[in-house]
Amino acid sequence: MSYFLTPEAIFEMENGFATGNNEKLRTLISHALTYAPLEVVEHAFENCTFICLEKGGAFFPNSLIGARNIIVFPNSIYTWSTDRQIRTILHEAAHNFLGHHSLAEPDFDMYLLDYDDQEAQAWSQVKSWLSRSGYTKPEKERS
Ligand SMILES: [Zn+2]
Repeated sequence: MSYFLTPEAIFEMENGFATGNNEKLRTLISHALTYAPLEVVEHAFENCTFICLEKGGAFFPNSLIGARNIIVFPNSIYTWSTDRQIRTILHEAAHNFLGHHSLAEPDFDMYLLDYDDQEAQAWSQVKSWLSRSGYTKPEKERS
């Protein structure tokens, strides 16, 4: 049985590396991943580096990055509704968790996957996590 962590526990688990010590992004991701099961959080921090280019340049030497997946968010993520932030972060974590591929990969066609199918699969995974974690959209964002 999977379980869900608090944002504080996830923040500690991350230790600053997966977000390159970007505290603002680390806080945001810790909050979003509280709606994903523990194994998803572990998988994300083991395999991903999250980037939000807020302050300009960042150097990630390949000795640190290795074969990690890079997840990039736009600066505007900080101004989005909480609901959109959570769904977007979980969506990218789902791509990582499900072992998806990117159109940018030269041999994308070899994986015999359809881009739209991957997107649908990721969104369906997000829906399942949100439901299992008992997520409810923040009151002030309900329309
Ligand atoms: Zn996607």
